[in-house]
Amino acid sequence: MKIAIPAEIKNHEYRVSMTPAGVRELTERGHTVAVERGAGVGSGYPDDAYEQAGARIESDVDALWAGAELIIKVKEPQPVEVARLEAHQTLFAYLHLAADEALTRSLLKTGATCIAYETITDDHGGLPLLAPMSGVAGRMAVQAGAHCLEKAQGGAGILMSGVPGVAPARVTVIGGGVVGENAARMALGLGADVTVLDRSLARLEVLDQRYQGRLRTVYSTRDAIEAAARDSDLIVGAVLVPGASAPRLITREMLSMMKPGSVLVDVAIDQGGCFETSRATTHADPAYIVDDIVHYCVANMPGAVARTSTQALSNATLPWIVRLAEHGWQEALAEDEHFRRGLNLTGGALAHPAVAEAFGESC
Ligand code: NAD
Repeated sequence: MKIAIPAEIKNHEYRVSMTPAGVRELTERGHTVAVERGAGVGSGYPDDAYEQAGARIESDVDALWAGAELIIKVKEPQPVEVARLEAHQTLFAYLHLAADEALTRSLLKTGATCIAYETITDDHGGLPLLAPMSGVAGRMAVQAGAHCLEKAQGGAGILMSGVPGVAPARVTVIGGGVVGENAARMALGLGADVTVLDRSLARLEVLDQRYQGRLRTVYSTRDAIEAAARDSDLIVGAVLVPGASAPRLITREMLSMMKPGSVLVDVAIDQGGCFETSRATTHADPAYIVDDIVHYCVANMPGAVARTSTQALSNATLPWIVRLAEHGWQEALAEDEHFRRGLNLTGGALAHPAVAEAFGESC
């Protein structure tokens, strides 16, 4: 199959949809891979690394798209990219169509087959192509939080681990899913005193078993959140209520209960944020202070660690890409109900119930 890897053109997007190692897996199976010149540079992969993996480097972006049967991207296509897409082509990328009717309508007009990373499922009720980025964001949340606790950032001047004779930082993670568990794991690794709050007893049970007393699990109530506000040096917001915007768990009023210089990292900011005083920030200016509390609310955290994120994404997507390349989308999806859930649009029609429902239609 003819596969294209375009450079990402969304503002401040440094990831690329495939590493040279991924390209090699495809070229060695006899597929043709064209990579846009410079596509991997933001993730630390020069063109010659792709050439060594058997790819052709293409400078003409129109020719790159026109010559492909399968196009692999990271982010949803921008308007100039949608204009290049043709009915016979398959696009595989993060699409988030339910939140973007204009993009959905424009993609429908192309007639192309659009398969979304984020709607592919697994046997455990998870989203295997969303999880790697949640893992990155969760781990980064603690790294960012530790930095914000430094005095120069407006923090209380607390070292996460403490030192012998000085207690470690108290870290509370609200939401013990993929982001929350990764945040907790990082905080434990740094030697912090860690508590995880969740509304799912099943999740708390899993964490309790897995960490064998090295962290505390607490059922998430208003009381528990107020206690966390009073006691914590760092709170990571990692909740998700599927299909809804994030609940506002820490109100502005509650900031006054917190110790000055404490830090709130709101990973749920991409769903509106779980703290009342959160507003989305960028890596260029990631943190701000409200009532002496440092807020870090970057909506695209994995972008800061593009190389790690590219590798994690490529590892997760590669097996699915190989199946698309080997069998074509129809056969690959027919064989696997989880892969089928990735199908969002085909032949000018909506193909995913949740996307159709978002626009008051059915499919
Ligand atoms: P997940 O579904 O794996 O976990 C969410 C957890 O929140 C669940 O265990 C759920 O029971 C819990 N929860 C729901 N309501 C709660 C409440 N009131 N109190 C305590 N816990 C509650 O989701 P995830 O993959 O871990 O994602 C978490 C959030 O992080 C999402 O909003 C996601 O969009 C966001 N995210 C942001 C970035 C970023 O760059 N900012 C990157 C990845 C994910």
